[in-house]
Amino acid sequence: MKRVYLDNAATTFCSNEVLNEMLPAFNTVYGNANSLHSFGRDAAAIVDHARDNIAKAISAKSNEVYFTSGGSESNNWAIKGVARANAYKGKHIITSKIEHDSVLESCKTLENEGFEVTYLNVDEHGLVSLADILHYIRKDTILISIMAVNNEVGTIQNIKAIAKTAHEHGIIFHTDAVQALGAVKLDVNDMEIDLMSLSAHKIYGPKGCGALYIKNGIKCADLLDGGAQERKRRAGTSNVPAIAGFSKAVEIATRDIIVNQQKIKTIRDYFVKHILEKIPYVRVNGHQYQKVQGIVNIGFEMVDAEALLTMLDLEGIAVSTGSACTSGVAEKSHVLSAMKVPDEYLKGSIRFSFSKNISKEDIDYTIEKLVEIVAKLRSISPITKTGRAK
Ligand SMILES: *Cc1c(COP(=O)(O)O)cnc(C)c1O
Repeated sequence: MKRVYLDNAATTFCSNEVLNEMLPAFNTVYGNANSLHSFGRDAAAIVDHARDNIAKAISAKSNEVYFTSGGSESNNWAIKGVARANAYKGKHIITSKIEHDSVLESCKTLENEGFEVTYLNVDEHGLVSLADILHYIRKDTILISIMAVNNEVGTIQNIKAIAKTAHEHGIIFHTDAVQALGAVKLDVNDMEIDLMSLSAHKIYGPKGCGALYIKNGIKCADLLDGGAQERKRRAGTSNVPAIAGFSKAVEIATRDIIVNQQKIKTIRDYFVKHILEKIPYVRVNGHQYQKVQGIVNIGFEMVDAEALLTMLDLEGIAVSTGSACTSGVAEKSHVLSAMKVPDEYLKGSIRFSFSKNISKEDIDYTIEKLVEIVAKLRSISPITKTGRAK
């Protein structure tokens, strides 16, 4: 059976170039990067090179990049670390309702520790408003955390403007840039970012590896205690193969950013155009222009998203109803809810996310199957209250 993978916002394949970069670190350069002998030094050299490489890609200094187990750990570290280290100044945090669960749940943990968190609404396109941020900033606000790119709808936030506003009020700014890496240019100086979370497996790198950028001078408490790795700030033996792969993945993603985005845009536009032409009662959720090219979220009226996902899966097509963490459970997307997507579309919304290798053939197959399945589901749909003719 034909298989089409359209869930690249959940994870991507690991590219051959990346894999080749990783292999020696499994069985040739296998030392512990913290050991004092030549085996250790060889491994440490790989880690040092990766750190320089990733720092360069985001215009940071090498000693501002810390390797972690991925985006989730980086978000936990940034938010809990900044909150706990700056609690003496105040206990108020601002974030948005459309953040990744690792941000939202970190905030929940902090609420149990006595912090207060404001979860900002977004507009119908998924954008946080600067006026809202200004409205909710208080004297005791210590941290603002807003994601650079949303993983369900692809909306790009006005990060620089938000960071500027935070700094004008003496507030630290963190951004979850996991979906931004490889899709938009990231320059921590130009964008005035204090802390930034990155992950490897969304950009054709290995799973279980990421980084946290912490600007020198920013107070952020450590999360993992133990060994002296990552300049004594993040314990745990360095995952050298993954770090080598992450570095290569960042290098390639940064190098090819414009070509990849253009290629994906062409295919994505073709896909959306055909869906809108061939299937009635459909809407695209998210921002029309201020978005990454690789994510498109489409609402199908009179269709149950879980049913659509399952039927597409039977045809070999992999999509998602939102973040991987919430799919499998039939609950509404917190992102689409915050965007006030009308109820009739909310229940039938699917995320299609494209890789740099997507082919027109795969998209044609997906369009064909979608037309069939949506028609089939609507013909048996109990949802008729919308007043639409079936
Ligand atoms: C995938 C993702 C994460 C989590 O990263 P992991 O490396 O899987 O832990 C965080 N934020 C966003 C926006 C993501 O898409």
